[in-house]
Amino acid sequence: MQVFKFGGASVKDASGIKNLATIVKDYPANNLLIVVSAMGKITNKLEELTWAYVKGDESVHEIFDEVKAFHFDVISTLFEDAKNPIYDDVANTFVEIEWLLEEEANDTAAYLYDQIVSIGELVSTKIVAAYLNLTGIFTIWTDARNYIHTDNNYREANVIWEKTEQEIQKHLPSFLAQGIVVTQGFIGSTSENFTSTLGRDGSDYSAAIFCACLNADSLTIWKDVPGVLNADPKWFDETEKIEELSYHDAIELTYYGANVIHPKTIKPIQNKAIPLYVRSFIEPKEIGTAITNTQSPLPVASFIFKVNQVLISIFPKDFSFIIEENLSHIFSILHKNKVKVNTMLNSAISFSVSVDLDEEKLKQLIEDLAETFKVKYNKGLELVTIRYYNQQTIDRVTVNKDVLLEVKSRHTCQIVMKDKSLAQ
Ligand code: ASP
Ligand code: MG
Repeated sequence: MQVFKFGGASVKDASGIKNLATIVKDYPANNLLIVVSAMGKITNKLEELTWAYVKGDESVHEIFDEVKAFHFDVISTLFEDAKNPIYDDVANTFVEIEWLLEEEANDTAAYLYDQIVSIGELVSTKIVAAYLNLTGIFTIWTDARNYIHTDNNYREANVIWEKTEQEIQKHLPSFLAQGIVVTQGFIGSTSENFTSTLGRDGSDYSAAIFCACLNADSLTIWKDVPGVLNADPKWFDETEKIEELSYHDAIELTYYGANVIHPKTIKPIQNKAIPLYVRSFIEPKEIGTAITNTQSPLPVASFIFKVNQVLISIFPKDFSFIIEENLSHIFSILHKNKVKVNTMLNSAISFSVSVDLDEEKLKQLIEDLAETFKVKYNKGLELVTIRYYNQQTIDRVTVNKDVLLEVKSRHTCQIVMKDKSLAQ
């Protein structure tokens, strides 16, 4: 069996959903599981809705109306028959959130976030399944929360693998034998049956979980790019498509921020040696990229850029050395503040990390570090990671830059730098 994943960009409007149906038509009418994200930028809207609700802001109703109107507009384009059950089905899904929004926000923001934001996936999948059925492709809609079991670390829930595998293997094969199965990415449920989410862009990861538990033959992620490129076209004029890459390289690239696939996606499918194809939903006949257990390294150097970096340098106040005890204290402070380190370097008397700028988090982090250490930081930086670097590739990215930090391992080089024109 195969698993397909369609992200928000692929189903951003009615024609996106029609396009999905034309792609699916070319595949066997069963043993295909389709994992779908919320439509377009709906997750961002629902986040906005959640924050407004948590703050008790008036805009709650306006934002919610906008979300509903968007979906009903898509539905009325796809389903001419106003009696099609999809109209009621989606309306009822929204009513559940309406009930919640009418009450005062008494739970934690993270919990409320998951209950609200998850409706994006619930409605998008209902629309997709109903549309496939309308076009004659027999489709079963199923609720991913019955299968993906997690802890209650809301907004970044951890999968409970044993239970998840059990539930997937118990129920899904009989559905898959009958037709195409459509389910949600990104969402799961806790042991108390509350909705949880796996972190932004987590639908890829959901698809990988289903794949691994079903021992799928392959996973295909349909994207708006032709495959995995050696750099984001946003930063580089000339990019190259990589035809085949190893799980290992894919993990490294996504870990360092290549946002073509969610970083957690690769491990589960690598463990089962399931190939992952990244293909274009715009050019669905093209081959795309295959991520497999090939041993060959990338044919070209790959570049990953992150902007808005802060370089934090930490020094023991008493001029002692940076030793294990200091490091473990620094890491516990980073962990407590949920700050992810993009790169790090230590010397005898200092330890430096580069992190994404988040003003609120940064303020707290610096305060906590300053209790024990002397701290300096520098904002407005860029981090570039080069996989399979050489001097030529380093020179290429550091033109007109001041290099603040450079970290090299055998295959990967990371450079934290500042645009010379910005230097004071
Ligand atoms: N809809 C969620 C998000 O936008 C999950 C996903 O798209 O993968 O983050
Ligand atoms: Mg999305």
